[in-house]
Amino acid sequence: MSLTVAFLGLGAIGAPMATHLAAGPFGLRVWNRTASRAAAFATEHGAVHAASPAEAARGADVVVTCFPVSADVEALLDGPEGLLAGLAKGAVLLDCTSGDPATSKRIAARLAKAGVGFLDAPVSGGVKAAVAGTLTVMVGGDAATLARVRPVIDAFGEKVVHCGAVGAGDAVKAVNNALLALHIWSTAEGLVTLRKAGVDPAVALDVINTSSGRSNSSMNLFPERVITRAFPRTFRLALLDKDVGIAAQVAREQQVPSPLIQLTAELFQAAHRALGEEADHVEAVKFIEGLAGQEIVP
Ligand code: NDP
Repeated sequence: MSLTVAFLGLGAIGAPMATHLAAGPFGLRVWNRTASRAAAFATEHGAVHAASPAEAARGADVVVTCFPVSADVEALLDGPEGLLAGLAKGAVLLDCTSGDPATSKRIAARLAKAGVGFLDAPVSGGVKAAVAGTLTVMVGGDAATLARVRPVIDAFGEKVVHCGAVGAGDAVKAVNNALLALHIWSTAEGLVTLRKAGVDPAVALDVINTSSGRSNSSMNLFPERVITRAFPRTFRLALLDKDVGIAAQVAREQQVPSPLIQLTAELFQAAHRALGEEADHVEAVKFIEGLAGQEIVP
């Protein structure tokens, strides 16, 4: 029997994920805070446009959420239009937000009282992998619950990893993104330095990318987005700032000496403040160039 699925949060990554669900063997309802986006999606993909989170959740086997932060999910639980008003016993909330473990645990505990399952299931791979349906999905929660929703995850995910109990998916995602942030920042510092020392950044990357200093940032992000000065807007700097902040918070909670992660959180907060809500994460490079008074590209 095919599952009825609701998808809430049709943003940069949510919309392509929901597109795969619309193409799959599911009855799909969509809800978005800005209703016009959900209406346009429903018309284009033959989904049902729900008027509220409660209406989307009513009768759904799986409710997928993809919002900026866990607090956005928590805020939609209550009230006559909230998720809890629609979720039935036995349903599962699959939260693909890159969230924080503490809030996810609170949400899971509240849903458990209503007999509703919860998985934190952040994704990685960016908009490109979301469009291709090849996201990596890192899941926290109960293995049996994961098995039940697996067909839904498989519609947009290629690699699905059960990371541990509720909150484990969020923690892995936050640390991964802290590493991404570190790579972007350190690569930018290195290339600005080399540029000031008279080395063409393309030449520098040619060496680094066959040497031990390489990373996804040096191999893909810098050649495609920085050297070209294209800086496409696919993943907001505000969201990466949030992710590094979560990693820093988890490290503090676990009492891990983590000067690099804490500093990276501060640096990305400063870049976010300077560049605003709509800047892409790779545009942090412009902030570093500004500090140095030197662009990377000749
Ligand atoms: P966007 O900012 O593009 O979209 C956010 C979505 O959430 C929109 O649908 C927005 O609705 C909705 N929303 C925002 N605030 C609220 C709120 N308070 N209540 C209800 N709905 C709200 O974000 P992304 O799609 O890029 O990111 C979503 C999540 O996925 C984030 O946690 C992000 O860190 C993560 N992620 C993103 C990746 C990317 O490449 N973009 C990669 C991997 C993970 P509205 O249309 O009204 O603004």
